[in-house]
Amino acid sequence: MAYDFDLYVIGAGSGGVRAARFAAGFGAKVAVAESRYLGGTCVNVGCVPKKLLVYGAHFAEDFEQASGFGWSLGEANFDWATLIANKDREINRLNGIYRNLLVNSGVTLHEGHARLVDPHQVEINGERFTAKHILIATGGWPQIPEIPGREHAIGSNEAFFLKALPKRVLVVGGGYIAVEFAGIFHGLGAQTTLLYRGDLFLRGFDGAVRTHLKEELTKRGLDLQFNADIERIDKQADGSLKATLKDGRVLEADCVFYATGRRPMLDNLGLENTGVKLDKRGFVEVDDQYQTAEASILAIGDVIGRVQLTPVALAEGMAVARRLFKPEQYRPVDYAMIPTAVFSLPNIGTVGLTEEEAKEQGHQVQIFESRFRPMKLTLTECQEKTLMKLVVDADTDKVLGCHMVGPDAGEIVQGLAIALKAGATKRHFDETIGVHPTAAEEFVTLRTPVAG
Ligand code: FAD
Ligand code: NDP
Repeated sequence: MAYDFDLYVIGAGSGGVRAARFAAGFGAKVAVAESRYLGGTCVNVGCVPKKLLVYGAHFAEDFEQASGFGWSLGEANFDWATLIANKDREINRLNGIYRNLLVNSGVTLHEGHARLVDPHQVEINGERFTAKHILIATGGWPQIPEIPGREHAIGSNEAFFLKALPKRVLVVGGGYIAVEFAGIFHGLGAQTTLLYRGDLFLRGFDGAVRTHLKEELTKRGLDLQFNADIERIDKQADGSLKATLKDGRVLEADCVFYATGRRPMLDNLGLENTGVKLDKRGFVEVDDQYQTAEASILAIGDVIGRVQLTPVALAEGMAVARRLFKPEQYRPVDYAMIPTAVFSLPNIGTVGLTEEEAKEQGHQVQIFESRFRPMKLTLTECQEKTLMKLVVDADTDKVLGCHMVGPDAGEIVQGLAIALKAGATKRHFDETIGVHPTAAEEFVTLRTPVAG
């Protein structure tokens, strides 16, 4: 049968754009549908605008520390509207770049909501198109628990477009987004409280990292409340919000921001017209080559709920394009040693196993740890400390994990991830000459194990 397209991609986000461009580059006839914004979550309401807001928030401490270096500044004023307008302009520019990338690589762009009609057919804007393969790359959506008054709360999608910086913010959740946005709101001057339902936020990260970040955020004046969860939200006559916690306490705020995870975006996608199956958590189920239960339909990125990170969606997109149209170049995605950063203030950077995971997996571990005041702060009043930690297998000397909390942790960990991927041992670290004076050199001068 002759199809309209070799590949029809639903969703022009991180994974979809990468798969479409690579497939077209390999000579396939490709279309991509996008209902909302080119570049998807990462470009529009994720990584990119978030990082811009983090940069914005960071200036507060730069101004404070500048006096130690002889600078005297007038009163610093922050204007939210300027930051948001400039951020919007940059995102518009990136949207244009994504459009050009697609069009210049020969991909047909359909703007509208796409729906599966059958295993080989998609409907969009009243038109139907057939394709040999269909790729679901529709990403995810913020999930806010069903509590009374949830309509008064916002999620990350709305936070990027607030008309004004709220004076008092309650951030709910203890994952990446909660911690990053708590830092943004606090840094920009809002009175910020983070509420997390468990004992300590950032479940899954190394224990020392979680404790260290808690201490640093507390030093900065962020109000961290653990074992705390909201039962209901009420809007008051003056427009402010009243959050009643499960323990009976009542907190007032101007904004309640939920960052309690993301669900797969499957709304009106027509999955019922196909044999695609969902897993227990409701994400699209795929095999190790991203094929769903329907042979002609594949899925990648956040919608499959494996690792919800842009570079992972990109790698999956590339793997699918290669498998379908350049099989001789196919390489499976390696999910081991994925480095990641939390752009809290200070940042977390991490790659490999946490101490807890290493022990659970039966490794005899040696732990190397350093806590120090970064050189830049020695002329200032700031008492912030950086944490660096290596988890080493005592039997093989292999470095199993690197963890850092401190300025530029994400930048530093990217390079270390290559070393770990290549199987570096502690001896390799020890034999590497440091770059002086940097914080990063500490990773190659850790000599004495602190625990095992
Ligand atoms: P998406 O990028 O979400 O793209 C899916 C696209 O499909 C969307 O554009 C959507 O409009 C479109 N779509 C959905 N349904 C349809 C339909 N039926 N028809 C047509 N189009 C449709 N990751 C990092 O690595 N680093 C970070 O710093 C980082 N920060 C983040 C901050 C926030 C606030 C959030 C929310 C996420 C962040 N992420 C970060 C995660 C990252 O954004 C995602 O992992 C990544 O965008 C997933 O890519 P994707 O292609 O799977 O989906
Ligand atoms: P996460 O899964 O990281 O965290 C969700 C948090 O919400 C957890 O602390 C969880 O608690 C809590 N939670 C879940 N359900 C409820 C509930 N019903 N009531 C109260 N608390 C609840 O999700 P995020 O929304 O922060 O981010 C989604 C994903 O996006 C991340 O996992 C990450 O993959 C990606 N991302 C990456 C970034 C980066 O690379 N820098 C930045 C932002 C997002 P518990 O731990 O107890 O389950």
